[in-house]
Amino acid sequence: MIPLNFDNRFIRELPGDTAGAAHSRQTPDVCWAAVPPSPVAQPKLLTHSAEVAALLGLSEAEVHSDEFLAAFSGNRLLPGMSAYATRYGGHQFGNWAGQLGDGRAIGLGEVVNAAGERWEFQLKGAGPTPYSRRADGRAVLRSSLREFLCSEAMHHLGVPTTRALSLIATGEQVIRDMFYDGHPRPEPGAIVCRVAPSFTRFGHFEILAARGELPLLKRLLDFTLERDFPQISGAPAERFAAWFHLVCERTARLMVEWLRVGFVHGVMNTDNMSILGLTIDYGPYGWMDNLDPGWTPNTTDAEMRRYCFAQQPVVARWNLERLAEALMPVAPARSALDAGLAHFDATFQSSLSSMLAAKFGWLSWQAGDAELVETVFELMQRAEVDMTEFFRVLAEIKQLAPDLEVLRVAFYHESLFQNHRDLFQSWLERYVARLAEQTENDAARRTRMNQVNPRFVLRNYLAQQAIDAAERGDLSMLETLMQAARQPYDENIAPELTAKRPAWAVNKAGCSML
Ligand code: AMP
Ligand code: MG
Ligand code: MG
Repeated sequence: MIPLNFDNRFIRELPGDTAGAAHSRQTPDVCWAAVPPSPVAQPKLLTHSAEVAALLGLSEAEVHSDEFLAAFSGNRLLPGMSAYATRYGGHQFGNWAGQLGDGRAIGLGEVVNAAGERWEFQLKGAGPTPYSRRADGRAVLRSSLREFLCSEAMHHLGVPTTRALSLIATGEQVIRDMFYDGHPRPEPGAIVCRVAPSFTRFGHFEILAARGELPLLKRLLDFTLERDFPQISGAPAERFAAWFHLVCERTARLMVEWLRVGFVHGVMNTDNMSILGLTIDYGPYGWMDNLDPGWTPNTTDAEMRRYCFAQQPVVARWNLERLAEALMPVAPARSALDAGLAHFDATFQSSLSSMLAAKFGWLSWQAGDAELVETVFELMQRAEVDMTEFFRVLAEIKQLAPDLEVLRVAFYHESLFQNHRDLFQSWLERYVARLAEQTENDAARRTRMNQVNPRFVLRNYLAQQAIDAAERGDLSMLETLMQAARQPYDENIAPELTAKRPAWAVNKAGCSML
């Protein structure tokens, strides 16, 4: 028996549609609809996160049991589980998109672990729900493996994120609108069980405001405060203000973390924004190789670049404004919303400065540092310098003998290195002059820099290698990447896992493979 202690507050305390709903419809006045996962033919556990299992109090034997496989493939609920899809709306690419909801995610309930922490389970790809519209509710191995790996990698990097417990192949084929040699290509299906203290999104509030369901909006707000923010107390007006302040603060910090590690979410629609400030919904995300503020992994956004690397903080602010609008009818005072948004700006600025100072090895952020940062970022962009590699080799620079050759490995093209030699050399001299203002030896600075500048990030080509192998039934690359992802700041990661993007992974436009 798998010993999980369920306490399903979301469906107990918020109204839902228990009728066993028809698919693809509007569901007014509810926050969720009951829907069982659709059984799959031949589930097989491909991998799991030992850390998440431990968090939940599951032993390795329990993870490898038939009961686990049945539950987390959606074939049989465990005692205490309830299956439901939640209702939310959202702004997609800047436009109100109406009701969306969990179209391929099915909640299984909330577990309280031995430490008293609450963790909600969600199967992604477990079949259609009332919110699937015309789609099948399934997910392919490719996208499931990408979510599994990346969410665990983000956690180990120290970036707030939803987690992943298991990756299970369904034994069924799924067809996506992906044309291969002119034909739809069937792909293996898979299901990720993701885990988070809460999956509530901005869009959960937005749909209720948009439909004028104000009593329910108030209920969802009160529920969120009680379940997800128990640390905030006080009279209603103060409590609301402190809560929105914190939502804005966490969102700002998340943006700074994405910039720190070079992560691009790719679809920052308001339905993909977590109320807890977690990275959520790993779709067409990507990791930046050569520093390029305009880079996006999302092919459907290649024209507008709304969700490119450097736009992410701007979009987060825009999304918070949409959340504030949705909350307006139930906010005790409008000033709390304005104050929260202003706090986003202040938090973003101060966290960004601290983050950049740490990346460059400065003990504090000083006047003049912004100019040094902008100069080198502009040079890196022009000379196509790898961001992750650059910061690791920058840590090796000797204050008294700054050698440009040390940085050479971060360049993608020898010719661009040669063409920009003088500019980088003069920047490097200004950089070491700045270091000389602080009394710290090279070794101490190197240690500090290597704690914030990862050695390993889940480069797009690496994830692709794991996918290609897994589709052939070879899970070794997946395991290898999981292992590296556990210690992303460690100097001793195999060089083939930290290498810059190879030439074969560049697309026709000269960008990282999408
Ligand atoms: P996303 O772009 O992945 O954030 O998804 C936007 C909306 O489309 C959400 O409501 C999803 O649940 C829904 N959706 C995406 N893919 C599928 C699918 N294969 N089946 C059902 N719904 C889906
Ligand atoms: Mg989504
Ligand atoms: Mg998605």
